[in-house]
Amino acid sequence: MIPTSKLRFLLATQNKGKVREICSALSLFNIEFEFLLGRDDLPEALESGTTFAENARLKAEHYHQLTGLPTLAEDSGLVVDALGGKPGVHSARFAPTDKERIEKLLRILDSRPGPSSRSARFVSAICLLLPEDVIEVTGEVQGELAQEPRGTHGFGYDPIFYYPPLGKTFAQMTVEEKNQISHRAQALEKLSVSLHQYPDIC
Ligand code: IMP
Repeated sequence: MIPTSKLRFLLATQNKGKVREICSALSLFNIEFEFLLGRDDLPEALESGTTFAENARLKAEHYHQLTGLPTLAEDSGLVVDALGGKPGVHSARFAPTDKERIEKLLRILDSRPGPSSRSARFVSAICLLLPEDVIEVTGEVQGELAQEPRGTHGFGYDPIFYYPPLGKTFAQMTVEEKNQISHRAQALEKLSVSLHQYPDIC
């Protein structure tokens, strides 16, 4: 049966980079997203969890309560082994801007005595609250922190996240390339598999 109208979901993020990647990955589903961008009437969610999964759930519940819509929320960040997992769930709050966050992270790594590992991973947790169900998935991608920023695509820490198998940083990739391998792409792939259980959405 061909579905007649698209289902309205709220995409609960203000981050334009995430919006681009999530919409691109879910474009084949019968979903029409409402966005938070420009919705200054909705108070922000408190990200008080200690894990990405907890924060994704908190955000989804918060915006679902405010709008009544099925809500997709995502929480993600960069986990640096040499820094005991920091900035982790505090990735967005590590410094005021993307540029300052990158500079601060490189400064901290460079100030450490002796050779230190530059291994890092991005983690993404997605929570989709449906009327009678909750889907929770996670994805991860392993990489290394570059010595200096490279590339102009993407957002956040992309310019210093070097992905050895392709020999470039995430900011040197197109959205399509990043969407083949990223932490968010892997979480979205698992979400897509779960969404196939819902005939109205496919
Ligand atoms: P959130 O909105 O609390 O999930 O913030 C996630 C933060 O982690 C972003 O603001 C970025 O700084 C960082 N981050 C998450 N995913 C990515 C990515 O795909 N590329 C670059 N930085 C990311």
